[in-house]
Amino acid sequence: MDKIETKSRFTGSNESAPKISDIVSNGLCIGCGLCESIAGSQNVQMTMTPEGRLRPMQIAPVQAEAVQQIYRGCPGTRIGGLPDSEIDENSKIDPVWGPYRRMDVGYAGDEQIRYKAATGGVMTALASHLLDSGKVDFILHVAASADKPMRTERQLSFTTAQVLDAAGSRYGPAAPLVDVMQLLERKQTFAFVGKPCDVTALRNLAEQDPRVDQYCRYKMAIVCGGASELGKSQDVLDDFGIREQDLSLFRYRGHGNPGATRLETKNGRSFEKTYNEMWGDEAGWRLQFRCKICADAIGEGADIAASDIWPGGDPSGDDAGFNGVITRTKKGEELLASAIEAGALIIEGELGPRDMDGFQPHQVRKKQAVWSRLKGLERAGQLVPEVTQLRIQELAKAAGTERAEHEAEGTYQRALIGKTSEPEVRSELSSLTEKV
Ligand SMILES: Cc1cc2nc3c(=O)[nH]c(=O)nc-3n(C[C@H](O)[C@H](O)[C@H](O)COP(=O)(O)OP(=O)(O)OC[C@H]3O[C@@H](n4cnc5c(N)ncnc54)[C@H](O)[C@@H]3O)c2cc1C
Ligand code: SF4
Ligand code: SF4
Repeated sequence: MDKIETKSRFTGSNESAPKISDIVSNGLCIGCGLCESIAGSQNVQMTMTPEGRLRPMQIAPVQAEAVQQIYRGCPGTRIGGLPDSEIDENSKIDPVWGPYRRMDVGYAGDEQIRYKAATGGVMTALASHLLDSGKVDFILHVAASADKPMRTERQLSFTTAQVLDAAGSRYGPAAPLVDVMQLLERKQTFAFVGKPCDVTALRNLAEQDPRVDQYCRYKMAIVCGGASELGKSQDVLDDFGIREQDLSLFRYRGHGNPGATRLETKNGRSFEKTYNEMWGDEAGWRLQFRCKICADAIGEGADIAASDIWPGGDPSGDDAGFNGVITRTKKGEELLASAIEAGALIIEGELGPRDMDGFQPHQVRKKQAVWSRLKGLERAGQLVPEVTQLRIQELAKAAGTERAEHEAEGTYQRALIGKTSEPEVRSELSSLTEKV
């Protein structure tokens, strides 16, 4: 397969000036919200599409300069890892797991955090420790919507109680960066907790706007197998015969590791599915396409990333909660040490990259496949992101020509039948074109 030698690219539309809608229609948008924040919500608004994806809908003209800034910031168009300045002689670089300084098994020192959180509560414990120790003013992350608990909203937490309320994994669409530019204007320090693609967006934005590193002091990521469309959650409602407006709680996991998916209604009924009932059948995951070509789902750009550590990748039952903790930067190492010293975090033992392979076989497979999938998209004439630093070409080569061809051809065939692209997001105003 000769195409594997060529360089990845994202050029925008060839015929005309790049448009935000090109990112969406080429299947590259994950709905992080950054473009709304850059363009302003009077021009671009994140919208839930009929397919159950959060996507930017343009409602007024956007200046060419803002479109360019979006293209440079969007995690659908540019994906990299840590800036060079964060890597030094104490960094190790694993071909699959990227740069790291240490890898550990850990969990929250506070039992309530450990119980309520998605896994062992490492993200919540670190975020709480940052607030308690005055290292940041607030945490930017996501939480269940108060009035529509199946949906997820961006959350600012100023207290440890607020951080704890937002603990847990939200598997549907989430747009944590929907007003990040406006948050920078507050001139307050904060830490970010989110998916690897969200961290990519922040790293991209930091290249253009020095305020990102000035105010966003820590960037933390959850290792991520992919975000589902809202339809996945709707399927759960349908299974139980519940209407969304009757819900008072939609918890995807937590309260044990992994804990059940639990729904409660305003009239006091409750319903549960085990993790394996939710995720046992991959055909029902309804993953967004961007996730299938995700060059960094393991938080390579984060100071610290946290994962599950189930042998083979699936839980065999509930336990007290143990995270894989990948510390990637000096700043992350200092934060980890400070949290351990304060008792906020318990570290139980060391891990290595090959242990992580065993816990995350799906991440290894994806990392090996992504380059070839992008080549399949290119072959079909679709736009692909610019990917740097993430070793995906080397990993594809190491996985062998036959596998690479299979992945590229599979993606090419899916592209031909429209499975790798998305309809434009339309409103009555969507005929407006960007001003260039
Ligand atoms: C869509 C998705 C897919 C995942 N896939 C994997 C996987 O393949 N392998 C694996 O090891 N782990 C995966 N996880 C991560 C895992 O569920 C835990 O989040 C992780 O182990 C951290 O656990 P914790 O107990 O430290 O998190 P917690 O202490 O519960 O903190 C979780 C934090 O993540 C934030 N968050 C939750 N959902 C989202 C979201 N959708 N977007 C942005 N921020 C969010 C919350 O606001 C909270 O601050 C996934 C999580 C999600 C949301
Ligand atoms: S990935 Fe984020 S920045 Fe890119 S188009 Fe989608 S919402 Fe906008
Ligand atoms: S798989 Fe990648 S693109 Fe999809 S939600 Fe996770 S980090 Fe984002």
